[in-house]
Amino acid sequence: MNVPLSQPYLDEAEIQAVTDVLRSSRLSIGPQTDAFEDLFAKTLGSKYAIAINSGTSGLHLAVRALGLKAGDEVITTPFSFIASSNCVLFEGATPVFVDVEDESLNIDPAKIEAAITPNTKAIIPVHVFGQSANMTAIMDIAKRHNLYVIEDACESIMARHNGQMAGTFGDLAVYGFYPNKQMTTGEGGMIITDDDNIYRLCKSMRNQGRGDSLQWLSHARLGYNYRISELTAALGVVQTQKLPEIIEKRRAVANRYNELLQDVEGIRLLTIEEGNDHSWFVYGVRVDARVRGDLLERLNARGVQSKAYFSPCIHLQDFYREDFGYKEGDYPIAEQISHEMLVLPFFTQISEAEQQYVVKVLKEEMAQLKQVGIEGKTL
Ligand SMILES: *Cc1c(COP(=O)(O)O)cnc(C)c1O
Repeated sequence: MNVPLSQPYLDEAEIQAVTDVLRSSRLSIGPQTDAFEDLFAKTLGSKYAIAINSGTSGLHLAVRALGLKAGDEVITTPFSFIASSNCVLFEGATPVFVDVEDESLNIDPAKIEAAITPNTKAIIPVHVFGQSANMTAIMDIAKRHNLYVIEDACESIMARHNGQMAGTFGDLAVYGFYPNKQMTTGEGGMIITDDDNIYRLCKSMRNQGRGDSLQWLSHARLGYNYRISELTAALGVVQTQKLPEIIEKRRAVANRYNELLQDVEGIRLLTIEEGNDHSWFVYGVRVDARVRGDLLERLNARGVQSKAYFSPCIHLQDFYREDFGYKEGDYPIAEQISHEMLVLPFFTQISEAEQQYVVKVLKEEMAQLKQVGIEGKTL
């Protein structure tokens, strides 16, 4: 058996929607983009939604819309996909990392205030793996210190914190629709906000800085081509319609893994914080850091596609080490998690048989490794 790490959840409805766009001849800036934005804003409960061509583009526009620039510091997490911190570098501002909570994997609010300086302008919490960061505590800190908040919600669409949708706490939030995400458009992203000015700026900057006049060759400000195509937007409409179903199905898949793995020695399951509703992005388990590498090799060799997520942490990526002098030990909790985390095959339509196979192989290989031991020492 070969079980992929992830798979998009698509059927004839998406194929039909994209085909219809092709037949319409309207391939960019059209009714599908409007429909995608309207439906997305309604589904997430925001005033505005702006579709863009990737989550990374969305993060870049977010940083620019808030006017963050060289000399400004932005507090964020080292345990994330690199785009959540690179977006700060795009504008010459400085990411300042704060270590994470061991259980939620998200930025630790108790450590944020110590990192605030007179130059701090914003916080970018990332809702990692499908779990909302502690937005109650983060918004409280942001208000007291007059800081902007950009939520990187790329991994946690429809997750909730105390009943409120992740992504609706801060000034704006960003989503990404790469094929491994809960919903996908191939490539694509979305910004949501309730702020009129942020909306206006993001909409203009995604389209070469054009102003509201819609004069094609009149450019009010520096902008980019971060537009989404009508084919992509059409996919987005169908996927957004399916979101509640997708989130439910993924929850059932995660619950089944939780049951199959609950008593397996040496495996630590993900913790969901009280008050949080999870939106399952990946299914990660934690194992002894000393066996993680071997285990990954053995799983992949037997058709169980697995990955070390996020490894290394952002601050330990080569160019962050070189440019900022970061080193091992700077953010010990994030580093420990990144050494232990093993992400298993997980997608909306994975079958029960596939999940059983994954767990069987995982159990067998764990037992094998236990016998062999580490560097001659029995575990
Ligand atoms: C997926 C993801 C993004 C955006 O990725 P794109 O490939 O640019 O759409 C940003 N931040 C996090 C944490 C992500 O997981």
